[in-house]
Amino acid sequence: MSNALSACLLEWYTQHAADLPWRRTPDAYTTWLSEVMLQQTQIETVIPYYHRFLEKYPTVQALAATSLDEVLKLWEGLGYYSRARHLHQTSRIISEQYHGIFPCDVTKLLDLPGIGRYTAGAIASIACGQRVPVLDGNVMRVFSRLLDIPDDVTQLSVQNRLWQIAEDFLPETDTGDYNQALMELGQKICTPRQPDCTHCPVQAMCKAFAAGTQLERPMKKKKAATPHYDVAAGLIYDEQGRLMIAQRPAEGLLGGLWEFPGGKQEAGETLPECLQRELREELAIEVEVGALFVNVKHAFTHFKITLHAFECRYQGATPPHTQPQLLGAQAYAWVTPAEFDRYSFGKADREVIRALQERSNMLL
Ligand code: SF4
Repeated sequence: MSNALSACLLEWYTQHAADLPWRRTPDAYTTWLSEVMLQQTQIETVIPYYHRFLEKYPTVQALAATSLDEVLKLWEGLGYYSRARHLHQTSRIISEQYHGIFPCDVTKLLDLPGIGRYTAGAIASIACGQRVPVLDGNVMRVFSRLLDIPDDVTQLSVQNRLWQIAEDFLPETDTGDYNQALMELGQKICTPRQPDCTHCPVQAMCKAFAAGTQLERPMKKKKAATPHYDVAAGLIYDEQGRLMIAQRPAEGLLGGLWEFPGGKQEAGETLPECLQRELREELAIEVEVGALFVNVKHAFTHFKITLHAFECRYQGATPPHTQPQLLGAQAYAWVTPAEFDRYSFGKADREVIRALQERSNMLL
């Protein structure tokens, strides 16, 4: 089946491959950049970001020479910001330790920040022509159906088996195109809910098609409900009408991005109490919490939040301090609304900014 599969897929790919910008110059830098951007993100969303990044940073050295703040600014809106931090770290390692040339060896690629087994396989096979497999959600679905695998693919042992299957099916040559063909088959034809088996180039060898079990593959056990948190944030004004913003710690969720300071509500406290506690813990400041300005709902990968933004008046540092302290933030700044665009914010805080701008437009 292995030879027949690769032959059918490669022929189909020759005729149907999408014309994607990173396929026009498949070097390691562009492959890496596009693969990192495509993690958890739709192709159409990625394309404009990819063009903007390449225009500003045409080489890995150019990316390494810029600041993390600049990278985060350009990344804003693409989400999953740890990808941008890892991109920047890796660009510096490639520039300094590898003289700007990506290693083609999967083991060395795996040592780089933000490069997992899938991305390493993609760079090594697509950009370097190495005979190594890739396994993303699309490829996992295709193999689960082709072989009609009844086991739960959320289990690590099943994923490891699928990696082995992906390796066993590799053709001797054209591995980069073959891997891309597999992924594209999963994106366009062998889709999760409505596989287009009629137009599938590998239908004749698909065991799930023969058994009529396509929609039951890949088997995944049901996920627990996504947790939800309430988060309070302060629109803290000083006497000159400027707003306080704080920069999150470099590591962790939304690391390095700016926000209206605040945090997660704990059991037994009201949202204003939560806000006052968080502001003391993060910045050692006191505020008078006023009216609720806006609620914003936002979903992260593993949880959802409702951000409650309150109008606040700054009262000063928590005694004995005489000015704010960076206890849980990297930096803070007092800014006018016109200055917001100089800073990188996550999506929920951008929604708050949009609501602030709408209000000021209405008042004009
Ligand atoms: Fe997927 Fe249907 Fe093709 Fe099987 S025949 S690989 S289920 S699209």
